[in-house]
Amino acid sequence: MIVMKFGGTSVEDATAIRRLTSIVRSQHHRQPVVAVSAMGKTTNGLLECARLAASGDLTAAREKLETIAAHHFKTADQLALAEDKDSLRQALGNRFDEIRATLEQIKQAGEVTPRLSDAMSANGELLSSPVVAAALRADGMKGVWVDVRPLMRTNDDFTRAVVQFELANPKLKEGFTAALTDGGVPVTQGFIGSTAEGVTTTIGRGGSDYSASIIGAALDADEIQIWTDVDGILTTDPRIVSEAAKVKTISFAEASELAYFGAKVLHPSTLLPAMAKEIPVCVRNSRRPQNEGTAIVRTAPPSSALVKAIAFKRGISVINIASDRMLMAYGFLARLFDVFARHETPVDMVATSEVSVSVTLDDTRNLDPVLADLQAFGEVSVERDQALICLVGEKLKFTPGVASRIFSSIEQVNVSMISHGASAINVSFIVADRDVEQAVKSLHREFFSQLDMATFEAPAVAQASA
Ligand code: ADP
Ligand code: ASP
Ligand code: MG
Repeated sequence: MIVMKFGGTSVEDATAIRRLTSIVRSQHHRQPVVAVSAMGKTTNGLLECARLAASGDLTAAREKLETIAAHHFKTADQLALAEDKDSLRQALGNRFDEIRATLEQIKQAGEVTPRLSDAMSANGELLSSPVVAAALRADGMKGVWVDVRPLMRTNDDFTRAVVQFELANPKLKEGFTAALTDGGVPVTQGFIGSTAEGVTTTIGRGGSDYSASIIGAALDADEIQIWTDVDGILTTDPRIVSEAAKVKTISFAEASELAYFGAKVLHPSTLLPAMAKEIPVCVRNSRRPQNEGTAIVRTAPPSSALVKAIAFKRGISVINIASDRMLMAYGFLARLFDVFARHETPVDMVATSEVSVSVTLDDTRNLDPVLADLQAFGEVSVERDQALICLVGEKLKFTPGVASRIFSSIEQVNVSMISHGASAINVSFIVADRDVEQAVKSLHREFFSQLDMATFEAPAVAQASA
């Protein structure tokens, strides 16, 4: 069997969903499990409704919700078979009743607690998936809607719940195997799960990719397909460099670094479950299914390209801790990092000198308590509005002189915290956020003006406007 995940733009309206059904039909013989995101901008829309309700403006929240509802009902009507229409309308109607009740609760609470946030945002996928299941039936397949929540067991860390694999894996296997019998095409939700008590959770924004990989690994899939709005993994974000080219094949290690360091095309955790089971992953364009996309495999074929792609993460903070007590002290770093662990704050990059440590943070939710605890270690300063740029390629490991090529191509930009990661397949550094676009454009020019066509494919059309 295979897992086919379709992102927000790939289910945004009836036209997109018709493209989806024909893609699924073309691979029907491979026993697909279909996992979908919310339609288009629904997740943000639902969270906006929640914010309006929390601010006390229930009328505005309801109005906003009505536009979301109208779009779903219209799409359902355009796609479903006549005999399916009533039950689909009923299912959507019930879901919107529940959402209205949640908005009341949020208004009462006067705030969007993480738990209420998940109670709202999970509805995007719960609304899109029955529409897609109906569309598959209208296209002659046996679309079977599967509620993933009782299967995808998580802890109760709302908005970033952690999947409990030992409980989830057997449930996922059992649930989807049953739905696949007799030619069924299960259609389920990415992004969401539930606690042991049955309370709805979400696993983090953009998490549908990760869900697809978890499901694929639990079912020992032959392949996990991520269908999105670009031709595959590109040499950088096409929103910054419109001529970004497709990378034909990339290793798990390279793609993981890119995802971790900001390439939005894959959620950072996506490849972990697939890698553990060595399941190939591909990234493909639902608007151009004739393009075979990017293959992510255990070992990529040898390539002459020094850099495969450039990722970046914006809006990060750098914390500097200066202390002469570090000199010759053992255990200093352990105690220092314990502060980040206690406040559940991941650190992306680290640089140390004899008397200072710098770390970068992407998640600044607990920044204040972190800073307060760090005061005990020395003088602490924070630089906000920074960006991390990461160049990835397995050849970076063996090539002398690469650093000078990187930094001379962006000599006009101030660079700090350079790191040639332990894996040695990435070179990362920090620039001011305002410089990131210029730096990425210059780096792209330096490394991708001449493309090795065995490794890359030039875009047929510019992928997105810069
Ligand atoms: P989906 O809704 O299908 O999950 P996303 O918007 O989450 O889609 O991810 C796809 C987007 O990721 C692309 O439209 C592109 O702007 C962005 N992106 C950033 N870096 C890259 C990259 N290296 N390769 C491809 N896309 C990238
Ligand atoms: N719909 C969710 C989001 O917008 C999950 C996803 O699309 O992957 O974050
Ligand atoms: Mg995504």
